[in-house]
Amino acid sequence: MSDELSPQATTFEQGYEGALRPATLAEFVGQAKVRSQLALLLNAATMQQRTPDHILLAGPPGLGKTTLSMIVATELDKPLHQTSGPAIQHAGDLAAVLSALTPGEVLFIDEIHRMARSAEEMLYLAMEDFKVDIMVGKGAGATSVPLELSPFTLVGATTRSGLLPNPLRDRFGFTAHLEFYATDELVSVVRRAAGLLGFGLSEQGIEEIAGRSRGTPRIANRLLRRVRDFSLVHDTPGDTATVQAALALYDVDEHGLDRLDREVLRAVVERFGGGPVGLSTLAVSVGEEAETIEAVVEPFLVRTGLLTRTPRGRVATRLGWEHIGAVPPGAPLA
Ligand code: ADP
Repeated sequence: MSDELSPQATTFEQGYEGALRPATLAEFVGQAKVRSQLALLLNAATMQQRTPDHILLAGPPGLGKTTLSMIVATELDKPLHQTSGPAIQHAGDLAAVLSALTPGEVLFIDEIHRMARSAEEMLYLAMEDFKVDIMVGKGAGATSVPLELSPFTLVGATTRSGLLPNPLRDRFGFTAHLEFYATDELVSVVRRAAGLLGFGLSEQGIEEIAGRSRGTPRIANRLLRRVRDFSLVHDTPGDTATVQAALALYDVDEHGLDRLDREVLRAVVERFGGGPVGLSTLAVSVGEEAETIEAVVEPFLVRTGLLTRTPRGRVATRLGWEHIGAVPPGAPLA
């Protein structure tokens, strides 16, 4: 997978993504259902002067989970404490975070499915009763001391909600499932971000970037920055031609496929007659790990209708054949 099309943020990007993040629910583009559900939850809690239910945000990377956690804090006018599952390796790590929370604070735990098991159990009690039991001393003399916490709202984010243990999942009052964005929603994301960057981009240029962003705002913003750089360095206007030239440089085609995506599709069509072909055979044939094909390449090809998965293996669709310029079997010859 090319860096340009990875839905994960690089460390470098984490530093400046903030500039493009919508700050309020009204500014958050798309996900209309989740937005109205969240607005209701937050408004009801504010009217009753209590903390809202804990919120679980589930969905693939780059769709706005971190952004939404910040918006929850802003809308509630409360501070936000951010941490992540991998940073909580012991119950003590979590106890330290929880005991420092101020009343009403929003606690964001990214990748919550990667938290240590021992901490999970502590979190159950904290979520339910705003309490934790702290172990004092060691061995036979160890005692547990209950500690009252300030009421808080937990916002958990996960790309793998299936990996969350049921008792944890059940303690979230509300789960939002974030979906990939439609192209017209991505058009709004790109238009807004181009405005914030002060980059004059034509409407067609905006649509061109949106159509190549794999349903993911993070990718849309990244492609936009590449196009902006290209336009700056080559002194070209922000039009379709600039978008096409810039993205050709990064091997991102008009559907948002990169070189590996196309190689996989081409292998299925050209070497295996359109399939069916098994995952491991396909992986060997393009010289890539089977896991990468299965986790990164395939879901997008399937989602865009270029490939299907059958019990006997992967099969290129008619659209898949056409995408790489091949004539599907049975099609009338031009
Ligand atoms: P996640 O936590 O799901 O990986 P983030 O919240 O970090 O995703 O979002 C990634 C980037 O995409 C951020 O820079 C953010 O500005 C942008 N983004 C995400 N969702 C939206 C949205 N609905 N509208 C505008 N920009 C968005």
